[in-house]
Amino acid sequence: MPLINQSAQDHFWQQHYGPHFAPLLDSDNPPPEQAASVAQTKRLLEFFIADSEFRKALVDSPSEATRSRGLAADAQEVRLLWDLPYATLQTSLRIPTPPSVQLYRSFIQEKIAHRERLRARDCAPSQTPHRKWRERQINRCWTQLGEGRTRAIIHAPFAVELSKGCSVGCWFCGVSAEKKKEDFLYNEANTKLWQDSLRALGEIFGPAAAQGFCYWATDPLDNPDYERFCLDFARILGRFPQTTTAQAQKHIPRVRELLKVSREHGCTINRFSVLSIGAFRKLVEAFTAEELLFTELVTQNFEATMMQSNSGRARGSEKLAKKAEALQLQHSDEEPGTIACVSGFLLNMVDRKVKLVAPCPSSDEWPEGFWVFEEATFSSGAELGAVCQAMINRHMPTSLRHNDPVAFRPDFKFSATEEGFTLTSYYAKSTLGKMEAGQELGLLIAANQYGAGEIALSLERSHGIAPEQTYLELNSLFQQGYLHEEPRFFAQKREIREQAV
Ligand code: SF4
Repeated sequence: MPLINQSAQDHFWQQHYGPHFAPLLDSDNPPPEQAASVAQTKRLLEFFIADSEFRKALVDSPSEATRSRGLAADAQEVRLLWDLPYATLQTSLRIPTPPSVQLYRSFIQEKIAHRERLRARDCAPSQTPHRKWRERQINRCWTQLGEGRTRAIIHAPFAVELSKGCSVGCWFCGVSAEKKKEDFLYNEANTKLWQDSLRALGEIFGPAAAQGFCYWATDPLDNPDYERFCLDFARILGRFPQTTTAQAQKHIPRVRELLKVSREHGCTINRFSVLSIGAFRKLVEAFTAEELLFTELVTQNFEATMMQSNSGRARGSEKLAKKAEALQLQHSDEEPGTIACVSGFLLNMVDRKVKLVAPCPSSDEWPEGFWVFEEATFSSGAELGAVCQAMINRHMPTSLRHNDPVAFRPDFKFSATEEGFTLTSYYAKSTLGKMEAGQELGLLIAANQYGAGEIALSLERSHGIAPEQTYLELNSLFQQGYLHEEPRFFAQKREIREQAV
């Protein structure tokens, strides 16, 4: 299968994955044979993940299991992808990997590279304070939510709800969506507000605004005008937003058209959330494997091997514990969970509200797995722009000020060491403070009662360290997300300190 063109991107893929693979994800015209091979392998694996009966049948008789489900992939040929002991043995014997497996793996690598690009570059806002604030939230998440979960979060710039509430009512809803009440419809007044709001978001974020999306604690298909809003989004911000819906099986012709139009307008990946094995069967019957090549099936049904996040309605629930038991997974109610993927703004167009948010572990205080720094209302695009800018100015300092309270994040266990200190969270242990008087610096921060200026002064008095040096160290810890920046704590502490001065 030759490469279809010689663009720089093709060259990248050729260098990394050999001359046989063309990129699929961003291609307007993917090579049909390659696309079909990947789509068929993907479908077999979707059956494997979603359907416990299929998993059993596949082990007993691979060809019969695939034949009876009408799957075109050769289960034996792609066995490396679904049978771990077999894959380990084949690899140790250096048996060549079949082309269909290589093609599938290169597609997955393409998707991973796409996600990394979104987080590292495409979702980054233009304004420096805003960009640094977002980077700090990402840094914090590495040690607070764990590498696996953090890699999956792109820290999108904004999300917009086009309804109030959600009609689906999933038991595991990670953001505890309320019951569906009302839709924001595409009438004259709303269209003007919508288009002006998109322009305002475009000005606030720059090109990153194209990576926003139009659902949160809502299902996009609840709104009958969803596609019209998304076409405005594509026209004004440059890209049709990604859709995730749990209702695809109820709206097959509508969804078929949505997949087509979204791809035509620059959307790369869409998602179906699959709530039952019946819905899964309906979807794979209605859509060919090729039609869903760029649509991920998020299999949330009980038979699936996928585990829900410990946040929102799922947090601490009996159903979540049962699911963990069925999958023989270690599960703890303390496990940091979230499904929030926005470090930026969350808008609801029905009640015209905007919040500044960032992901955090779900807790009693933040059950939905995201911090809310501030909330405001707006009645026009211009007002939305002004409100967002004011929040950026208020909540996104690029460095610590003299009177700012300084403390470590409360999820860290602090230990002083000879050379400095260590901070241990649920997922990570960081060794820090490798500077002169590093241990004392750590102890002053861990005391949770000093401001940045007091710490700098104390180290100057006790060790003759220049205050600029201490500020440099403190700001590095701040930007790496080690310091307490939880909105309520930070605001309260600063207020107390300012009153005391
Ligand atoms: S998970 Fe999605 S579809 Fe389900 S209730 Fe929550 S918002 Fe609605």
